[in-house]
Amino acid sequence: MNRLPPKKSLGQNFLTSIPARMKIVEAGEIIPTDIILEIGPGKGFLTKALLATGAHVVALEKDRALIPFLSETFSTPLASNQLTLIEGDVLVFDPARYRLQANGYKLVANIPYYITGAILSRFLTNLHQPSTMVVLVQKEVAERICARDAKESLLSLSVKAYGDPKLVYRVNKGSFHPIPSVDSAVLQIKNISRTNFTSARHEEVFFKLIRAAFAHKRKFALSNTASVFIDTDIASLFKEANLSEKVRAEDVALLSWIQISKRISSKPE
Ligand code: SAM
Repeated sequence: MNRLPPKKSLGQNFLTSIPARMKIVEAGEIIPTDIILEIGPGKGFLTKALLATGAHVVALEKDRALIPFLSETFSTPLASNQLTLIEGDVLVFDPARYRLQANGYKLVANIPYYITGAILSRFLTNLHQPSTMVVLVQKEVAERICARDAKESLLSLSVKAYGDPKLVYRVNKGSFHPIPSVDSAVLQIKNISRTNFTSARHEEVFFKLIRAAFAHKRKFALSNTASVFIDTDIASLFKEANLSEKVRAEDVALLSWIQISKRISSKPE
């Protein structure tokens, strides 16, 4: 173990709290027939609890040095095929290659924080999305996604477009080794789907629209979006969605953006 010192460059802050681990597993609502994708098993602290549920676990670890340790620790579930251990990088990982079918698996993990945004976006927008995600993230990130102050952000809308996020449990920074500089939280995203979108073009226009809306914080959402969608009568679409001309992007709910982007995308190009 001591021959495997934590690597800062790979976001290695290993969880040491048994109550936090329990909350993660509970939030996954795991049953024995589930298939779980764990990103970054590290030294296997969470993997052990995931395997105890009886579910099949696919664990993906980038750090080559940890693979022999994990193989030895989990030789029994590896031999019985309850565990699949993959050495690889989540940023180029294709779920379909490992029997991880659309909505047919759950992603449950203590992820490396330096790629939180990339992991959320990669799995939420993936053609093979998980049905549920339970991830440990920086506390402020979880709070922003769940928009506790009722203010939306690019991040909160990008998550809510695909699922229902909930901050399940706060985790003190002392629950990790080494101790990170930030507190954490267990973020659960349930009911993941792309049913909000009627087509790939709708999805594409939605992101173009919200990116434009949040581009200039001090300006109104209408002028921000109108300056990007120059061939569209955005003012009429705002009116149709019952939005004031002076509304700020952070005060517009997800469904209004879904509605407006649907109208834009159904217009002939
Ligand atoms: N799950 C373990 C735990 O709870 O103690 C370790 C969590 S640690 C925060 C993040 C883990 O992700 C590390 O094991 C790290 O090596 C791994 N990791 C970092 N970047 C990765 C990547 N791009 N793809 C896959 N795993 C990665």
